[in-house]
Amino acid sequence: MTRVHIVGAGMAGLACAVHLAGAGRAATLYEAAGQAGGRCRSYYDPQIGCTLDNGNHLLFSANHAALDYLERIGARDSLTGPARAAFPFLDLRSGERWTLRPNAGPLPWWILSAARRIPGTGIADYLGAWRLACAGPEDTVADCLTPGDAMWERFWEPLTVAALNTAPEEASARLLWRVLRESFAKGAASCRPMIARDSLTASLIDPALAYLRAQGVEICFSHRLRALEFEGQDAKVLDFGARKVSLAPGDQVVAALPPAAAAGVLPGLDAPLDTRPIVNAHIRLPEPPPGAGNGDVSILGLIGGTAQWLFRRGGIASLTVSAAQNLAARPSEDIAGIVWAETAQALKLPAVPMPPVRVVKERRATFAQTPDAVRKRPGARTGWRNVALAGDWTDTGYPATIESAVRSGRAAAALVTERSQSTR
Ligand SMILES: Cc1cc2nc3c(=O)[nH]c(=O)nc-3n(C[C@H](O)[C@H](O)[C@H](O)COP(=O)(O)OP(=O)(O)OC[C@H]3O[C@@H](n4cnc5c(N)ncnc54)[C@H](O)[C@@H]3O)c2cc1C
Repeated sequence: MTRVHIVGAGMAGLACAVHLAGAGRAATLYEAAGQAGGRCRSYYDPQIGCTLDNGNHLLFSANHAALDYLERIGARDSLTGPARAAFPFLDLRSGERWTLRPNAGPLPWWILSAARRIPGTGIADYLGAWRLACAGPEDTVADCLTPGDAMWERFWEPLTVAALNTAPEEASARLLWRVLRESFAKGAASCRPMIARDSLTASLIDPALAYLRAQGVEICFSHRLRALEFEGQDAKVLDFGARKVSLAPGDQVVAALPPAAAAGVLPGLDAPLDTRPIVNAHIRLPEPPPGAGNGDVSILGLIGGTAQWLFRRGGIASLTVSAAQNLAARPSEDIAGIVWAETAQALKLPAVPMPPVRVVKERRATFAQTPDAVRKRPGARTGWRNVALAGDWTDTGYPATIESAVRSGRAAAALVTERSQSTR
């Protein structure tokens, strides 16, 4: 039987392996680190005294590939979130609070009601969505909208930064429209937010590894691919330094690597290499907010401060700052002080003393999703007959997210299957 060698055990590599294993293909998964998950992982933090995620990860009910992946690994029930799509916001400058509640169907009737609109906005402000729908490939979000008005500050900017991890002045308008088209434009059922109930690893990683092992997939940690050796149009050897793996005729390779690592082993690959950081801060709250049980979660959008989102799971608050180039350069102690002040204000807690705060800086959280970089996203197919690509940065048509990573893994699995069938 021929074998598929998948390099990289992030969400893309895992999704690819899950699809291939489900179809009965022999596969080996190699990972440089000592654990799987890549940019989507959890770890025990002694300072905070519990398991933390490297960063808050939000999924939406529109993320069909990601939900299908969870179904396949038997972990669909491990997500939690509000029963209906509802997004509470707080403007930290004015103290105003509002909740964005899309209608059940695709027609956004809520825009017609002043009480349901975002404070400070009028009906005409929502027409910006139409300009995004008509955006050209070179347009940034700022090219299509009106920077500085209330709609910009309270909707477009936070949405762009959250969805694309890129400032609206440089983010691709077309990519943002894709998110809107698949979520808000379809109504409440497609934009229900969900997070992992316990941790990212417990939901998305450990059940996948258990599934793969049960299907006989070989999993090799601490295997960093140093080079691929080629002969003609085929890869012949995977070079892991201490170990070399020769490919048998019919074997295939899926490089499910971040863009820089993929470009390092695939000569001539023109990958989008510019990245943007995300900073997360996890805080053990001195006292959980009134009525908060251990298992409950809440999500609050923050406007006008440094953090953009506050997630709370029981007694832990986790704050996210996306497109955080300036913040990531500052010392963690400064960041802790800033986000704790915002948390205390948002949750109405005493500002002193400051509780334990863990700051996690993910410097290469996603590629910079500019029009130029989006144009560079390659598909699963490469110039080599037995090498396919996967990763959230490849051309899935979707921003670099779990959904994109899973779609890319699925596309790579489909490509290697098609190639195997055509050579039979
Ligand atoms: C802080 C943060 C917050 C995020 N928030 C969200 C969110 O709210 N919603 C959402 O959907 N997405 C979010 N994302 C994005 C999401 O995490 C990624 O899109 C997804 O995890 C990418 O998966 P991947 O498999 O494409 O890449 P990676 O996770 O980077 O996986 C690549 C794997 O390859 C391994 N590797 C690298 N080089 C080699 C080598 N030479 N040999 C072998 N292995 C190698 C790496 O160790 C890694 O495990 C967030 C990301 C971060 C960092």
